[in-house]
Amino acid sequence: MLNVVKNEKDDTLLVKLSGSIEENVDFAALIGNPTAKKMDIVCREILRINSVGVKAWVKYFQSLAAKGLKLRFLECSTAIVEQINLISNFTCGGEVESIFVPFCCTKCNTELLGLFRAADLKKINFEIPDLKCSQCGGEAKFDDIPEEYFGFLQR
Ligand SMILES: [Zn+2]
Repeated sequence: MLNVVKNEKDDTLLVKLSGSIEENVDFAALIGNPTAKKMDIVCREILRINSVGVKAWVKYFQSLAAKGLKLRFLECSTAIVEQINLISNFTCGGEVESIFVPFCCTKCNTELLGLFRAADLKKINFEIPDLKCSQCGGEAKFDDIPEEYFGFLQR
């Protein structure tokens, strides 16, 4: 089940998506046919997307891109980053503004997420600084393979 919250300001339609994207998703019905020039899609609460959901996603956003809408994906969840890396046209020519990065505490094994802007990740050459664990104050380290997780930013 996918929930959509929309907010239009100036020439940009802000769309917040939350939940999971599966067989029954109907983006056209949920988001409609935007008249704005730009669309910012906030993806922090997309927990899951399956292969049928991916097809519906690409079809919908491609149709918007074809009409000249400028797409920007913000605060992409790890599930979305995974698809961006797997599917070469997942962003349909849009820009990925920021993504969540997985961390794991070296002391208590708590899994944490850090939000990074794509431009900043490039600036630090994907050398991710440690986070302070919110549970024990220990050091949390980046918990994935840089070449894979940031692959889409390097191609
Ligand atoms: Zn910890």
